[in-house]
Amino acid sequence: MQLMKLPWLKPEKPIPLDVHVIWLPDGMSCDGDTVSVTAAEQPPIEDLILGNIPGIPKVVLHNRVLAYEQGGDNFMDWLYKAEKGKLEPFVLVIEGSIPNEKIKQEGYWTGIGNHPDGQPITLTEWIDRLAPKAFAVIAVGTCATYGGIHAMAGNPTGSMGLADYLGWKWRSWAGVPIINVPGCPVQPDNMTETLLYLLYQAAQMAPMIPLDENLRPTWLFGKTVHEGCDRAGYYEQGDFAHEYGSQKCLVKLGCWGPVVNCNVTKRGWMRGIGGCPNVGGICIACTMPGFPDKVMPFMDEPPGARLSAVGATVYGGVIRTLRQITNSGINKEPKWRHTGKKLTTGYESTNYVTGRDGRQ
Ligand code: SF4
Ligand code: SF4
Ligand code: SF4
Repeated sequence: MQLMKLPWLKPEKPIPLDVHVIWLPDGMSCDGDTVSVTAAEQPPIEDLILGNIPGIPKVVLHNRVLAYEQGGDNFMDWLYKAEKGKLEPFVLVIEGSIPNEKIKQEGYWTGIGNHPDGQPITLTEWIDRLAPKAFAVIAVGTCATYGGIHAMAGNPTGSMGLADYLGWKWRSWAGVPIINVPGCPVQPDNMTETLLYLLYQAAQMAPMIPLDENLRPTWLFGKTVHEGCDRAGYYEQGDFAHEYGSQKCLVKLGCWGPVVNCNVTKRGWMRGIGGCPNVGGICIACTMPGFPDKVMPFMDEPPGARLSAVGATVYGGVIRTLRQITNSGINKEPKWRHTGKKLTTGYESTNYVTGRDGRQ
């Protein structure tokens, strides 16, 4: 694989010591992804900000929920600097879906800061200003990646994901595609690990970030929920829960895990603990581009689940019976472990002088 060639690798532009992250939770958003990332541990956001990871640039984070700055103007200055190219390099993070500001006669859906005439600067204006200047652009959370809840059928906002707004083939000036890190909210370590990857890339120590056709990092979203689920053994044996509180497979209660790309059953939510079906919640496919419309109503058996569950019930029933026989066999000690004078282990002496075989 080829490493990216970046302008600051020219002798006059050394590898940056700092990478600014302009994180705008100002889409149609609940700020849940910002809150989620404060729980990250692999790596913690604090380690990225404090520069605790050797060899890579330190993150300078600008996020209005987590901002150090007191007062709006101080915070807004960073956005204006980024717009003027004075923050090179920076990563733009968008949280929340992108509303369509062109479909109404007046007002606005969402924005941050004001124009000199007091009119709000919409989020879409900020994306138009900042995306061309960013080293990389990340959409965090399912609202920003694919539209999510705000983009449901019947919504009045025309909301969409960032790639629908900028174009799926969009590239930053450094050649980096839009990076989608979905989840509602995002799994915290998935976000900080993606940021960490970009820092390695900025330091010329990693090749171009590998993404799937939905622009998700492949190493994070290449497996299904089902493949990492603690309950997969129950599924295989056709042993299904019919009510919540059971430890068995949840597919009949509406779990979409077998067809959903998400790693939380492997990774957990915090400190490796949790991961929806692992702890009793059905997977509602929140990382998927079709969420939520294509998986509603929640708690109905997913299409195909009945057929595969019938197959698993028949096949799994036979396997379960055979395994119960084997299980009861290995749950008993071998018969030669007993008291008494007779040795029944099958031992044969190797003592050539006195051995039972009579050999000298
Ligand atoms: Fe909130 Fe979920 Fe949207 Fe993130 S993806 S902004 S957590 S609704
Ligand atoms: Fe698969 Fe869901 Fe059952 Fe887990 S609970 S084994 S993810 S169907
Ligand atoms: Fe979302 Fe399903 Fe992953 Fe839970 S397991 S985070 S519901 S995709």
